[in-house]
Amino acid sequence: MSLFTAVEMAPRDPILGLNEQFAADANPNKVNLGVGVYFDDNGKLPLLECVQAAEKAMMEKPTARGYLPIDGIAAYDNGVKALVFGAESDVVKSGRVATVQAIGGTGGLKIGADFLKKLNPNAKVLISNPSWENHKAIFTNAGFEVGTYAYYDAATRSIDFAGMLADLNAAAAGTVVVLHACCHNPTGYDITAAQWDEVIAVVKAKGLIPFLDMAYQGFGHGIAEDGAVIGKFVAAGLDIFVSTSFSKSFSLYGERVGALSVVASDKEEAARVLSQLKIVIRTNYSNPPTHGGAVVAAVLNNPELHALWEKELGEMRVRIKAMRQKLVDGLKAAGVQQDMSFITTQIGMFSYSGLSKDQMVRLRSEFGVYGTDTGRMCVAALNSKNIDYVCKAIAAVI
Ligand code: PMP
Repeated sequence: MSLFTAVEMAPRDPILGLNEQFAADANPNKVNLGVGVYFDDNGKLPLLECVQAAEKAMMEKPTARGYLPIDGIAAYDNGVKALVFGAESDVVKSGRVATVQAIGGTGGLKIGADFLKKLNPNAKVLISNPSWENHKAIFTNAGFEVGTYAYYDAATRSIDFAGMLADLNAAAAGTVVVLHACCHNPTGYDITAAQWDEVIAVVKAKGLIPFLDMAYQGFGHGIAEDGAVIGKFVAAGLDIFVSTSFSKSFSLYGERVGALSVVASDKEEAARVLSQLKIVIRTNYSNPPTHGGAVVAAVLNNPELHALWEKELGEMRVRIKAMRQKLVDGLKAAGVQQDMSFITTQIGMFSYSGLSKDQMVRLRSEFGVYGTDTGRMCVAALNSKNIDYVCKAIAAVI
């Protein structure tokens, strides 16, 4: 008997498991479309020029690494506010937004979840069906009962919007609703601006708490375009939570750069909220790390670097869209009869391909093409060298 005799082996993270399998695969043509990471046309993880320029300037004037404030670098938090809400927006100018630097988008979600649990311990949480796997885990571990609202309809390869509205309408007041602000992970299907208006009307009428997860701002239609949904919630007079991730938009995955913003009813309320967010941070990891936040703050607050970032992010966005089109065309050329044009309707880094688990397993074992068993493929990992092979492989299993 030891202290740990009764400890059970936790299930393996499915995506990381896939990565291990991929690494061990001897197939020289293997392609990893499993993990949600953007690679450039050479299959490389990009190091953005704006990031390099900011780091170069930092190295020329090296600074000691003291503790950051609990809520992070002020210039970073202000940069996030400007990006998510607009620097000149009433909500920012009036001091109604409390923003804290967080350890990635995951950290932003976790801070929000812990704060919400204290605020409203009996609330339930609803996430989309399906959603990013960690949504359920984060809110469950924060002590919430997590359910789902309808989202993807496999039969029609589109969003079950009527089902979504019905589920939101049926939710009790105070229910936390986690919404993907743009580039839905895993399906790639976003609701339209008009549909957002309907969601907002229900959220408002039913007294639900919107928690917008913004992990891909700039990957959909553009930074401002993707951020517009946040403006809609604010314009409706709702108090909202917004988690931000810069992992993909700055290609700074390992630096863990993210944020949580909470919109309160007035400045004084926002100050009280901020004080509570700081308690959550203080009792978890005290304060955030310096480097990634300093880089992002430098880019966001310098007009030239900001413009360079927008250009580089735009190139990533355009390349993904081009790959979607190539995938549709390539599948057709490879003899796939069914209409695959839904792939270009989808947006962001992922595509729900509609392939079955058996087909995904065959793609792996026979062709070394790795996606998740749910049929999710990361189109941001396709490039001009692997696209033909991937098309042929998919055509062979369809
Ligand atoms: N939300 C969604 C929907 C995501 O896809 C991700 C990243 N895969 C995150 C949050 C977390 O982002 P980060 O890696 O910055 O923690």
